[in-house]
Formats: sequence, C-alpha cells, structure tokens
Amino acid sequence: MTVDPRNYKYADFLLKDRIIMVTGASDGIGKALALEVARLGAKVILHGRNKKKLENVYDQINKIKNTLRPSIALLDMSNAIADSYITLANSIENEFGRLDGLVHNAAVLGDRFPVEHYDVVTWQKVMHINVTSGFALTQVLLPALRQSCDASIIFTSSEVGRVGKAYWGAYASSKFAIEGLSQVLADEHRHSKIRSNCINPGATRTNMRLEAFPGECRDTLKAPNEILTPYIFLLGPDSCGVTGESFNAQH
Ligand code: NDP
Repeated sequence: MTVDPRNYKYADFLLKDRIIMVTGASDGIGKALALEVARLGAKVILHGRNKKKLENVYDQINKIKNTLRPSIALLDMSNAIADSYITLANSIENEFGRLDGLVHNAAVLGDRFPVEHYDVVTWQKVMHINVTSGFALTQVLLPALRQSCDASIIFTSSEVGRVGKAYWGAYASSKFAIEGLSQVLADEHRHSKIRSNCINPGATRTNMRLEAFPGECRDTLKAPNEILTPYIFLLGPDSCGVTGESFNAQH
C-alpha cells in the first residue's frame, strides 16, 4: 500500500450512485459518515435503532443539494434475531439489487472492569452487538455485495482492539474479534470483488467517548467529520484491491 488513506484527497461525487449502508448512523461517527457519503453522491442506507434520530439524519441529508434520498433500516442489534437480518437483507436486495459498501460502525462500550469482576450478561451484550451483529449482517448481505462490481466492507475497530488494555474487557475483546473477522472475510474473498478492512477512528468527540472518558477536556478531540477520509478512501474506487488491512483514521 503506497497511499496513506489519511492523506487521501477526493473529488465531489466520488461515490456517485454507490449504495452504501452505515450501521449506527443515528449519531457520532456513523451520522457524520452517512452525511458525507450522501454528499459524495451515494444512496445511503441509514441503520440504527432509534427512528426519530434516524429521521433527523434523513432530513439533514435531504437538505444537502443534489443528494439521493436515503433509506432507513431500523434494527435494534441487542435483540435482533436471524429472521430480522434476513428480512433486512431481502428488502435491500429487492429495492436496490446490490450493495457497494457496508460500514460496521454501531457498537456499545459496556463496563470498564477487571476481567475478574466483569459482569457476564454485559459481556454477552457487548459481544452480541459489536461482533455477532456484524457477522450476521455481513452474512446475509454477501449476496447483495456480490452483485456489486466493487464492494467494500469496513469494520470499525479501536486502539484497544489491537493492543489489549486493562479494564477494557468485552469492548477490547470485541474489537480484536472484528479485526479477525475482517481478515477472515478478506481472505475468503481474496479472488473476488469484495474487500474487507478495519479502521480505528482514534479519539473522537462522540457520546461513546464521553462515556469512556467523562473527565477529559473535549476541546482537543477531533469531531466526527474530521476523521472520515480513510472511510471515504475505502468506500471509493481508488482502494480497489486493498483488503485485509487495518488503518488508523488519525495521525
Ligand atoms: P456513538 O455512541 O456516538 O454511536 C454509536 C452508534 O451505535 C449510535 O448510532 C447508536 O445508536 C448505535 N447503536 C448502539 N447500540 C445499538 C444497537 N443495539 N442497535 C443498533 N444501533 C446501536 O459512538 P461513536 O460514534 O463514538 O462510535 C462509532 C464507532 O467508533 C464504534 O464502533 C466505536 O467502538 C468506534 N470507536 C470510537 C471512538 C471514539 O473515540 N469515539 C474511538 C475508537 C473506536 P443510538 O443513537 O440509538 O444510541
């Protein structure tokens, strides 16, 4: 890889007519990404669990000049069952016939406790939302991704998903798991048009960051719309052939 995706420069309408799903598009990084991807000409499928918040993003996109009308995919990953994922995938296939980008962004933080004291139910919930949902969604959407001539899957990782850190329990383990899942997918599709990569957004000014570090000064943190360049690189044509890699969104 010669291009550093953080320094990538892109033109308006880079993603013209691509169909891209962003999970957790109701807030934070997912919301900022959905807005940018729409601005660049893509049809965005906004996934989330909160209809009101998603409708707000929907309205914001419609107010941007020359954007395609987005779609809303409502699914609470904490209690979704296999059928919920199949129904979602069927509606995407029926409506669009293909999917060009799938950004796994939705996640929860869970507790920050030593493993010895980590609550098992919380562990299961974090792993379910952060890992199993990503697996289940990817599995049902592979037929739609296969219909694309340039399909890109992105998993949102974390620094603690690359180097283990005390007290980050299920969250850190879930991020290690998706790094692995992304590599497995990349290897399985090495000879196809589907690529899979991870991005660690780095410290970003969102609700999750506030939950993790309530006492920190937030002024120096990057805003979600300042860390999107590597996502855009990986969703667009210039990253064709890039697969099985892990990137940082910040220097
Ligand atoms: P936010 O908490 O702002 O956003 C999380 C998103 O996930 C929201 O849209 C939220 O929906 C959605 N979500 C949570 N639980 C569920 C669920 N059960 N079903 C469906 N959607 C759900 O977090 P960030 O924007 O900070 O995080 C985005 C990604 O970036 C995550 O994967 C996170 O781990 C990662 N990350 C963030 C960093 C940071 O500093 N911010 C650093 C490293 C990684 P709702 O709006 O309804 O709550």
